[in-house]
Amino acid sequence: MVYIVGNSFCGSTLLGFLLSAHPDIIYLGEFKIKTWLKERSCSCGHSLDTCPFYTNFFSAFNEAKKSLFEDVRPRSVFNLLFRSDKIISKNAIEKMESFYQSISERVAQMYPNAQYIVDTSKSIWMLNGWLHTSLAEDIKIIWLTRQLKPSIASFTKRGFKFYHSLLSVLVNNLLTHYYLKWNRLDYLKLDYTRFYDDFDEVAKSTSAFLNIPIPSVYQNHNTHHVISGNSFTKKEFTGHFNGFRKDEEWKSQLTKNQKRILSWFD
Ligand SMILES: [Zn+2]
Repeated sequence: MVYIVGNSFCGSTLLGFLLSAHPDIIYLGEFKIKTWLKERSCSCGHSLDTCPFYTNFFSAFNEAKKSLFEDVRPRSVFNLLFRSDKIISKNAIEKMESFYQSISERVAQMYPNAQYIVDTSKSIWMLNGWLHTSLAEDIKIIWLTRQLKPSIASFTKRGFKFYHSLLSVLVNNLLTHYYLKWNRLDYLKLDYTRFYDDFDEVAKSTSAFLNIPIPSVYQNHNTHHVISGNSFTKKEFTGHFNGFRKDEEWKSQLTKNQKRILSWFD
């Protein structure tokens, strides 16, 4: 598994699709999303009834996921930081294992050469769950970061309050840093800004980390069945991906004052 950690709106959906440019990397979106709550369409261009991946699998997928959610998600971030080994019950780990089992079986049926499944859940609690399963040794962690100004602008654009967004991003960065450090986890750090500037370099370092050649030019192999994440990005990859856009929307999204405050932290 490739597991991506980072803040909301850090570009993880984009990265998931870009990884699936390799035909043996299967991208299924964010496993932490409550996919049973609303009708969704799949990034492969089909509805859930006709998507070749989910058609006979969707209800089993959701059932397995639903039951593990309450058990794996900790009640507070402090539990995660200071008692990382004790917060998950044996029962929860078993549920996590059988959830993974059902996904990997389905993936193997449809893509017998698959080498990686990508989970862009981003949350540390979900990663913590995966790390308690027998899959732990085979998880490759990518920490995807994004500069503070475009990151916070993505929050305020969607109606989140400025200070609330700033605080949650800063806290999550700290949590991620210490979780990875204290658990001595190996990870690759990628910066979203580099995607536009030099994706060749990003593809190169990712290829070396995952030990599989990530194409620097996107080609669709229909190895993605994404029913969560950024819907704009999803649509782009359902159709034709037209390349990267420079990350500049924050310039008009943030006020002068907000930019000044963010400069203190960058
Ligand atoms: Zn699909």
